[in-house]
Amino acid sequence: MRISLKSYDIMTAMSAKNLKDVSPKQDFVQMEKDLLEKWEKEEVVKKYLEKNQDSEERFSFIDGPITANNPMGVHHAWGRTYKDAVQRYKNAKGFKQRFQNGFDCQGLWVEVQVEKELGFNSKKDILDYGMDNFTNACVSRVNKYAGIQTEQSKRLGMFMDWDNSYYTMSETNNLYIWNFLKRCNDRGLIYKSEASTTWCPRCETGLSQHEQADAYKDIEDTAVYVFFKLNNKEDSEEEYVLAWTTTPWTLSANVLLAVNPELDYVKAKIEDKAVYLGKDAAQRLDVEVLEDIDIKDVIGREYESLIDIPAQEGIEHKVVVWDLVDSESGSGVVHIAPGCGEEDFELGQELGVPAISALDTSGHFTEGFGFLSGKYAHDVADIIIEHLEGKGLLFKTETYEHSYPHCWRCGTKCLFRLENNWFIKIDEIRPELKREAEKVKWMPEFVGKRMQDWLDNMEDWMISRKRFYGLALPFYECEKCGNLHVVGGKEELKEVALDPSLVDKLPSIHRPWIDEIKIKCPECGEVVERIQDVGDCWLDAGVVPFSTLKYLEDKEYWEQWYPAEFVVEMIEQVRLWFYSMLVFGVIFEDSRPYENVLGFAEVRDENNQRMSKTAHNYIPLDEASDKVGTDLIRWNFLTASAGANIRFGFSILDDVRRRFYIPLWNTYNYFVTYAKLHDCDYKGYDEDKVEDVMDKWIVSKVRKLAMDVGENMDEFNMAMASRKIEDFIKDLSQWYIRRSRNRFKEGDEDAIGTLHYVLLVLTKLLAPFVPFISDEIYSNISLNLGLKESKSSVHLEDYPEFREEEIDEDLLEKMVLVREVCSNGLQAREMAKLNLRQPLNKACIGIDEDFVKDIVKNELNLKEVEYSKEPVKEEGVITVGDKELYVSLDTNLTKELREQGIINDFLRKYRDFRKREGFKIEDVIDIEIFMEGEGKEVIEAFIRENKEEMQVGNIVVVDSMSDFDREFKIGEIDVRIRKVS
Ligand SMILES: [Zn+2]
Ligand SMILES: [Zn+2]
Repeated sequence: MRISLKSYDIMTAMSAKNLKDVSPKQDFVQMEKDLLEKWEKEEVVKKYLEKNQDSEERFSFIDGPITANNPMGVHHAWGRTYKDAVQRYKNAKGFKQRFQNGFDCQGLWVEVQVEKELGFNSKKDILDYGMDNFTNACVSRVNKYAGIQTEQSKRLGMFMDWDNSYYTMSETNNLYIWNFLKRCNDRGLIYKSEASTTWCPRCETGLSQHEQADAYKDIEDTAVYVFFKLNNKEDSEEEYVLAWTTTPWTLSANVLLAVNPELDYVKAKIEDKAVYLGKDAAQRLDVEVLEDIDIKDVIGREYESLIDIPAQEGIEHKVVVWDLVDSESGSGVVHIAPGCGEEDFELGQELGVPAISALDTSGHFTEGFGFLSGKYAHDVADIIIEHLEGKGLLFKTETYEHSYPHCWRCGTKCLFRLENNWFIKIDEIRPELKREAEKVKWMPEFVGKRMQDWLDNMEDWMISRKRFYGLALPFYECEKCGNLHVVGGKEELKEVALDPSLVDKLPSIHRPWIDEIKIKCPECGEVVERIQDVGDCWLDAGVVPFSTLKYLEDKEYWEQWYPAEFVVEMIEQVRLWFYSMLVFGVIFEDSRPYENVLGFAEVRDENNQRMSKTAHNYIPLDEASDKVGTDLIRWNFLTASAGANIRFGFSILDDVRRRFYIPLWNTYNYFVTYAKLHDCDYKGYDEDKVEDVMDKWIVSKVRKLAMDVGENMDEFNMAMASRKIEDFIKDLSQWYIRRSRNRFKEGDEDAIGTLHYVLLVLTKLLAPFVPFISDEIYSNISLNLGLKESKSSVHLEDYPEFREEEIDEDLLEKMVLVREVCSNGLQAREMAKLNLRQPLNKACIGIDEDFVKDIVKNELNLKEVEYSKEPVKEEGVITVGDKELYVSLDTNLTKELREQGIINDFLRKYRDFRKREGFKIEDVIDIEIFMEGEGKEVIEAFIRENKEEMQVGNIVVVDSMSDFDREFKIGEIDVRIRKVS
């Protein structure tokens, strides 16, 4: 192998004296803060952002906007670390990129927080406060938290073009959505519909399917069984139908009873009434069954109103067929209130029966509901039960546990109410959505499956909200001619505005200001106001691949950056951001907006519980950053499998520190210590000169690592890439350095040069993952050492590229075998209960190669290693392993070996003493020593002759010692040591 190393050609011979000392007890948090200052001062971030601006190759990343509504918690750091690691890697690889961070700024979540801040409880409070003041308060909250999140992200080590962040509340972003909605309307996809909507009575708005998907809670409710009295045929006995509901308030809006002819029904005798109900239910309720019946005889019959209120007057109640009725729970008869439930509404529509609308926007009964009017729907179960008892129509109540929707934002128990809402038809574009989603690479794969499922089941997109601070839907509905005019931009608004000059004077296109603009209906000339609704916040985020890439202003620019090659967010974004972007992509360009999507799971606490502020296990990002530093947080996230929930806590981070961070730091410290100790005046690793097989091995190993990490990063597999680095650091410290210790002690320039080379490559590989420690190490071993082309930061370096020919695969494979042989030898030692400090005479191994014998000799502390065709069978010889990987270890001890063992034990304890007393390797000290017990002469003789090795100036063996710094035992010998100041 005769290939010179580019990075080393440029190196000038420099003295290691310039290396900054490394503290084994480094304060890493302070180190990170110092680096942040350095990056700022030396414009590292700016240079990083500009590094590849002239590059032909591009990599397009689009940032999913973070809600600028609160300071970040540790869970936010997962996605942000992925984003930063990928962009840093691509930057090192020379790709031109956009580094635009995004903030999500509109919608219910901001409103709810501002309401809390101001102590508001209802929409009325907001209107009293003034919609303009409220909007301004929302904007200032967003700006405040965008600022805080920016600082937190910098602290996390993210390099972004912070001054160029996009805000979804910007006029540009909102106007792009107008344009999108106009295109939707041109294609006939926009419609208004009255529907039974899942409704938050606190936020006073309907909630869409994708918002609500995760917002179900298991709760207990009172379910009631009630008798509905059938209208009697003349002279016949009174007949009843037993129905069941978990939401008694909806009985006030009952219109139908539904049964399923596929099920069995019976006539039972309950409280002397003849009652029809399901057969299974009769059994469950333990009632007296009179006979089986054919439910078809009951279908179509009319019945009396259950509750006496004006709203029920004139309603024709009927028993109808519905195949969704099952026999699992309830009575086999379902009460239907088309005004109070989605499925009920659909059935009502199908059958053409009226839907009784019972509630106002705050969940209170409207006029016409008699004793219920003015009461809150969730509070009326008891009075309805009382009313029914009074009429003799209540059979029984029971506690029922079910999964019930709650507002995803404020947690309030939802209701159902009839409301006019605006929708985008999805059926028309469903095939395109599915086709485009198929083209995307989803990671992990199941995320793609989830997207297809979502696309199969997604109903029309409800895009309107009855709120204040959000996208003002540009819908102008003419009352006179029925025309819906959708305005696609500000110029267009001016064209149709009654007073175009007002459009120019708009301080913002938010409510309330935008509501002042009235237009002339383009069809009939009538004056039309904007509808009051605002938009779903997922419109705001979905438009980003167009609004941030200048789709309407600069198509050429947009074409260079669309679609995004990479986006990454939590897996739940399948039905939110990933979905909404896909809709925009299909409407604007009939194409997918992204090529590779990484979804990640959830951050849990150390006990695998969901983190939440109310459960007090929530960890603010600042707290974690200040406590342990952000490199550790990043590494913890990067080594995790994206698709599985990850646990997060300080004991877990401690483990990361022990496992990865400290070995890395110690290895670096080891290099600096020995380079300085021997004041190396070296040229680093020189392939033509280096002889030692360990040096060659670790160099091949780090080059191979660079290729592996690169391949995994190209696949966005951060977990695999970082785990490989972690394994490498283990090999570096536990095999390369351990096996090369004597060479370092002797000041072997090849060893020190090799370690330098390896560390230099390693810092470049680590930079995307742990930006702080990598730059700290790099700066010292590159800049301070005076490498000619070193950069002011590792983050301005290129990715280390190697070719296959530069890697000695053969050696890498052999070393695996050698380590296997050594591990067999160690096992043999263990079986003989001989620790490694006890030298042994000899071992025989099955590989006849000098470097292998050398390594085994050193690793197993042997005087001699020989090749033997077969395992040796002699007294005192232990063989472990088979084929050519066996070791036959001679465990017989001579007097000389025993004495050497004692001295080795002594030296180890002595070094330990020096370390604990805080001496450096080069410090020469004076000591007194006391020994007692058989064999002490061996140690005495040794220290007399080896003062230099022990780094002592003067050593006195004394006869007694009561006051000492350290006491230990070597076999039977008591040893006490004290330093003489
Ligand atoms: Zn709510
Ligand atoms: Zn009109």
